[in-house]
Amino acid sequence: MIIDGGGIAAGIRAKIKKEVGDIERKQKRKPVLATILVGNDARSKLYLRNKHAACRDVGIMSENYEFEKIGESELSDFIGKLNRRKEISGILVQMPLPKGMNKEAILSSIDPAKDVDGLHYVNAGLLFKGDESLAPCTPKGVIEMLNHVGAELEGKNVVIIGRSEIVGKPLSIMLLRRNATVTVCHTRTTNLSFYTRNADIIISAAGSPGILTADMISKGSIVINVGMKEVGGRIEGDIDFDGIKGKASLVTPVVGGVGPLTVAMLLRNTVNAFYRQVGTR
Ligand code: NAD
Repeated sequence: MIIDGGGIAAGIRAKIKKEVGDIERKQKRKPVLATILVGNDARSKLYLRNKHAACRDVGIMSENYEFEKIGESELSDFIGKLNRRKEISGILVQMPLPKGMNKEAILSSIDPAKDVDGLHYVNAGLLFKGDESLAPCTPKGVIEMLNHVGAELEGKNVVIIGRSEIVGKPLSIMLLRRNATVTVCHTRTTNLSFYTRNADIIISAAGSPGILTADMISKGSIVINVGMKEVGGRIEGDIDFDGIKGKASLVTPVVGGVGPLTVAMLLRNTVNAFYRQVGTR
């Protein structure tokens, strides 16, 4: 069976839309997301357009700020202004930042209570301690997807390919919390298929097209593709979808899989950030 990420995300968005309506009735205001883009990357612009359209769809207000060029301290000052604006619930700095900019310095200048991407060290620490309210969106989306399809996690062997701070690492913590046995593979892993063949669930977030093929998985496993890369104008996933779909019990398409859930979780986090600031639920 092919997992319909778009359909699952639509259900989540409908719930968030209702919640935003309730917030507006009770609080007489709406959550607001502010996004920042530095540079001119066309793909980043596309992602941002999608994020703003998703906000509009559920009634979240949004503002976008673009800087073709900006210094690090100037950007931190700008973020400081957004931190101080009470009506702003969430702040997102679109990655990647241009080369030479200190990502950590920029991310840690965001008020942790407004950090909707969940990349501030305070939110990373909270996640470590079991608070997922502002955890990174993509791993949160993967967990939502697994819940939605009824995948059992307790005691299952789950292999994650990729150990980044935005996907692999936070996902490993979320899965451990759900009592899965988690193996995190990465570029220095020798014999990747040794791990993937023994996995009940595989989540590939490498951005390395075709690294997971049907011969590397066991029959009936669940395979989730997060990684994608543009190759010759086409988006390619980490997994050999056509080969794997005949062997896995559940598999995500490369487009319309995890992507829509990532956006839905950004909306979720914006509402969660709103709650964190007003101190209610
Ligand atoms: P990253 O480059 O920071 O991390 C990639 C990780 O994969 C690294 O830990 C690396 O060790 C591992 N890796 C790379 N090639 C490998 C290989 N051949 N074998 C084993 N491990 C390998 O990237 P990221 O930001 O974590 O994103 C990962 C991928 O997921 C990218 O393709 C990105 O575009 C995609 N992504 C998709 C969404 C979505 O919503 N669909 C969201 C975030 C990221």
